[in-house]
Amino acid sequence: MSEKVIIIGSGPAGLTAAIYASRANMKPLLFEGFQDGGIPGGQLMITSLVENFPGFPEGIMGPSLMSNMREQAVNLGARLIMEDVISVKLDVRPFTVISSSEETYTAGALIIATGALAKRLPLDSEKRLWGRGISACAVCDGALPVFRNNPLAVIGGGDTAVEEALHLTQFASKVYLIHRRDELRASKIMQERILNHPKVEILWNKTVEEFIGDKSLSALRLRDTVTGELSEITAAGAFEAIGHQPNTAFLKDQLELDSQGYIITKSSSTATSKDGVFAAGDVQDTKYRQAITAAASGCQAVIDTEHFLNFLS
Ligand code: NDP
Repeated sequence: MSEKVIIIGSGPAGLTAAIYASRANMKPLLFEGFQDGGIPGGQLMITSLVENFPGFPEGIMGPSLMSNMREQAVNLGARLIMEDVISVKLDVRPFTVISSSEETYTAGALIIATGALAKRLPLDSEKRLWGRGISACAVCDGALPVFRNNPLAVIGGGDTAVEEALHLTQFASKVYLIHRRDELRASKIMQERILNHPKVEILWNKTVEEFIGDKSLSALRLRDTVTGELSEITAAGAFEAIGHQPNTAFLKDQLELDSQGYIITKSSSTATSKDGVFAAGDVQDTKYRQAITAAASGCQAVIDTEHFLNFLS
């Protein structure tokens, strides 16, 4: 028996899609994932206090928010399978989905919400202090009390790094932007905004050699990429903004992706290059990447799916 809709991914986009699809009587089947591209629940599972998701006046811990969303989806009738999807066949409908236990499922429509993983610096000290001053999202974590009126650091030279550094200027006493080259990759307009910002110091030609701190981050040891010289800066927080990797490896030539591997969706829609396949959340979003925008696009994907299935019947 073919499913009406299969949802792949269990972050805010996938679970919101499951909630809406259940309410629309589509009896969704959702693959939560297991180990590919992060843990079930997505990036919020490794986030501490979420203060900017509406409805929680005191904030909510990332894992609790995801557990609530999951419970809500299950209560409404969504069926969840904790396995990775290893491949899909999208050339004919119903579409085929193959899971890591090599089971085959079919569905009249697919919603792909597998998210993206923030790239991380491969340092032991980074792993040790992750979540204790080191984060990959300044918009999510930057306003936490521990970071206020303290020097903070952002690593990277792209639009995300510049945007995060500018965001942090609201809370920090000073923001260091640490970039491995002598020229930013960020767009000209973003460069203009940051180059003369009174609270920002750009540390050119520097990479992080070590994150320093006992229970939480207190400083960064940097290496000059030209001279090899080592130096140290004091910082209570460090935000890695060195790019994201969308979880689209399992799609292998089945859908149109951009040069970085993100699913391309049609403007003002969650429709992909394949009729009946929709994409929601960070797997198709290089710009907003927030839990609330991911959740919103999960809702949009279900409305688009409903229109598609109704049009066919
Ligand atoms: P990018 O890939 O554009 O930039 C990543 C940055 O991290 C680069 O400066 C890169 O250095 C640096 N970097 C990568 N790996 C390492 C490493 N191991 N050590 C140190 N530095 C490293 O990613 P972004 O997330 O910034 O942007 C992704 C896309 O999203 C872009 O197309 C961007 O324009 C877009 N975007 C748009 C926004 C907007 O319009 N408001 C906001 C945010 C993103 P190097 O430059 O040397 O390669």
